Amino acid sequence: MMTELIYMKDCYVKEWDASVESVGNDGQGTFIVLDRSAFYPESGGQLTDKGFVGWNGQKTSVVKVTKGNIIKHYIVGPEPRAGEKVHCVLDWARRYALMRMHTAQHIISAVALKKFGSSTVGNQIHTDHSRLDLKPSKLSQEDLAFLEQKSNEIVDSAIPIEIYEVDREEAESNPDEYRCNFSLLPKFIRRIRIVDIKGFDKAVCAGTHVANTREVGHFKILKKENKGKETERIIYELV
Ligand SMILES: [Zn+2]
Repeated sequence: MMTELIYMKDCYVKEWDASVESVGNDGQGTFIVLDRSAFYPESGGQLTDKGFVGWNGQKTSVVKVTKGNIIKHYIVGPEPRAGEKVHCVLDWARRYALMRMHTAQHIISAVALKKFGSSTVGNQIHTDHSRLDLKPSKLSQEDLAFLEQKSNEIVDSAIPIEIYEVDREEAESNPDEYRCNFSLLPKFIRRIRIVDIKGFDKAVCAGTHVANTREVGHFKILKKENKGKETERIIYELV
């Protein structure tokens, strides 16, 4: 059975009940597969969630979650048995920082596209410093200051963010409406998830986000690095 991915619809679920479908070991460590999970698996540039699962007075740490044919929750500690009912708890401080960072990235990417015509070609969402790669990009110090100021204005505007799915055909027929390189989306994906900063930016994304731009707080662009081939890397942190 496929794991139901709770965070796809609701990024604010911090605790939930689940059943252990199977327990395995693949050389990277011992992992469990759950019938439903809000643990975000490392993907799309966003780091893995962490936390723990508990059952019958026992508790084990979830240290890493990966996405492949199945969602593997790598654990350190006691092993639940297949069929066990467990209670799952996210390391919410970590996840919430990643949500704020990821929404900040969408805002910076949208401003960079609107103002400088630069597309985002890569990103890494971490809890301390995050980064995105822009192409084509040749930003002056003044441009960087504009990017930071304009993006923080969007944060202050307290814009609601909605997450929903649309048919791929519909999105592909309106390519200017969504920030997405559709040629990079695997063909089997027929429904795509949209992160919609209402009236400001719609992006195709499977990550976790805050519900209002104001929750990002403020952020600071620390520096840019030249990555060659007209590509520049922007590094930022939450303040
Ligand atoms: Zn995203």
